[in-house]
Amino acid sequence: MIRQDFPIFKKRSGSKSLVYFDNAASLQKPQAVISAVTSFYQNSYANIHRALYPLAEEATNLYENARQVVASFISADSEEIIFTKGATESINLVARSWGESNLRRGDRVVISWAEHHANIVPWLQLKEKIGIRLEYIDLRSDGSIDMKSALVKLSLPRVKLMSVTQVSNVLGIINPVDKLISLAKSKQIITLVDASQSIGHFPIDVKKLACDFLVFSGHKLGGPTGIGVLYGRKNILDKLPPFLGGGDMIESVRYNGYTPAQVPRKFEAGTPPISGAIGLAAACKYINHIGWKKISKIEKELTEKFFEGLVSHSYIRLLGNNKDKLPIFSLIIDNVHPHDAADWLGQEGIALRAGFHCAQPLHKYYNISATLRASLSFYNSKSEIDYFFKKIAALHKYFTK
Ligand code: PMP
Repeated sequence: MIRQDFPIFKKRSGSKSLVYFDNAASLQKPQAVISAVTSFYQNSYANIHRALYPLAEEATNLYENARQVVASFISADSEEIIFTKGATESINLVARSWGESNLRRGDRVVISWAEHHANIVPWLQLKEKIGIRLEYIDLRSDGSIDMKSALVKLSLPRVKLMSVTQVSNVLGIINPVDKLISLAKSKQIITLVDASQSIGHFPIDVKKLACDFLVFSGHKLGGPTGIGVLYGRKNILDKLPPFLGGGDMIESVRYNGYTPAQVPRKFEAGTPPISGAIGLAAACKYINHIGWKKISKIEKELTEKFFEGLVSHSYIRLLGNNKDKLPIFSLIIDNVHPHDAADWLGQEGIALRAGFHCAQPLHKYYNISATLRASLSFYNSKSEIDYFFKKIAALHKYFTK
């Protein structure tokens, strides 16, 4: 059973076992990842790239092998994989490095209303700094991308970049990024895909997608925190200035200048998250070991089951009622504030989240201030969904009397 691969569920079994429905925030860690990180620290630890002794070479090899594993996980070449702190840093890297060297006052960046703050604030910062214009693609009432609006926004003058999420962390809806990318490409617009939510749920092939940049965080697919990825097309990365300066990102330093290293090291200043990269590679291997077919079958069944639960509880409203989605459900329950619900459910062993989930503009778009988000993954079960709806019914009854 998949669940047994995750030690946290063994530890937290008992009268109130852990019902972990906060997977959109972060996935729990399989033993394979924990073991890979522990083994690195116990057996192979040294700083990388700078020393010639065997232990440092071993650590360097583990780090560079991790890059290859991650590259093949998304069908990229290893030199196109830059390790960062997470998706947030990856987007900031693009905004600072590509944005500041390619965008001028009045140029446009197109995003959608379904973005996480990580894909909004860096562009707002460029708006403040250099006066770019930020355009939002509208959503339809079911939360899906309005392709007519996409066409309108991408046809505006001086659009230089489209940066969109493949799956919203609030709605769970799978956006047609392939169609958006071909539309953008036909207008010579550079494209960035935020794969933070999709990466742990279905296969991604950057060559097929034909995006210029793609970002994600390791912790969303079972890897450690503090490691993320920026995929960039090699010919674009080669031309970009470094983001951060320091050790390891240089070819040479003179008292009055420096020559940056080749990609990817040009973008990896300082001691990188070595154990993070090793753990992330272990997470990719673990996902491959389970297999996308199995993951997608389980998650489809969980999504259907959750929809069935929603149908029989008329006092619950779902934000973005579209069936082409991952099991991420943001809910509004009549008479119950989402924070009260999350607190109550937490006491019953159910871990989930209330608030605007780092997507305030999206909540504003729907004219609501907060939702209760249940986000499931392949180790969750149908019986946990039954338990969830049973507790929601009790909660609703309590707050309605
Ligand atoms: N984009 C999306 C769609 C996300 O869900 C998240 C994480 N919630 C991020 C970006 C940012 O990820 P991180 O905080 O790991 O950098």
